[in-house]
Amino acid sequence: MTGIEVIAGLFAGPGARDYLGEAVTIGEHMRQAGALAEAAGAPAPLVAAALLHDVGHLRQETDARHGPAGAQWLGQWFGPAVTEPVRLHVAAKRYLCAAEPGYLGLLSAESVRTLALQGGPMTPEQAAAFAALPCAHDAVAVRRWDDEAKDPAVTPPEFGHFEALLQALLKPGPLSSEACGTGR
Ligand code: FE
Repeated sequence: MTGIEVIAGLFAGPGARDYLGEAVTIGEHMRQAGALAEAAGAPAPLVAAALLHDVGHLRQETDARHGPAGAQWLGQWFGPAVTEPVRLHVAAKRYLCAAEPGYLGLLSAESVRTLALQGGPMTPEQAAAFAALPCAHDAVAVRRWDDEAKDPAVTPPEFGHFEALLQALLKPGPLSSEACGTGR
């Protein structure tokens, strides 16, 4: 099986139909996030990161582990411009809680609940260290689409809509060594 087929299988599987405390299923949530990134004109690796950010949940990882575990798994097929925002999207929530007044008030009840399991808001020192990471900007972008992608009134595109975009990003490929923030 190709990487795309393996990932498509997760989106089609029972894990994607879990709600995880939100108003949409995890599969709908991820496809909404990918569509929001696409609508915002994000470069392909960032659209992929938004689409795949919760792949750790599809693979039954815990709240605290799903970012890094998902990124590590995706790293067999995709480069850091895709995997780093996935790895850091939970840290980006903790960062935004520290760095942006009012951000916490925008979060869903479930997202506030899991924040405690994920370490709570960053300290000022942690936030400064996070902001200095090369992929911090992209991780924050994914995080904002993540937070928005919970609308039960929205019908997102099917996984197949994104297949060609993902296919073009597979390693080894012209984008495989691209760092975050390139292509815009
Ligand atoms: Fe999410």
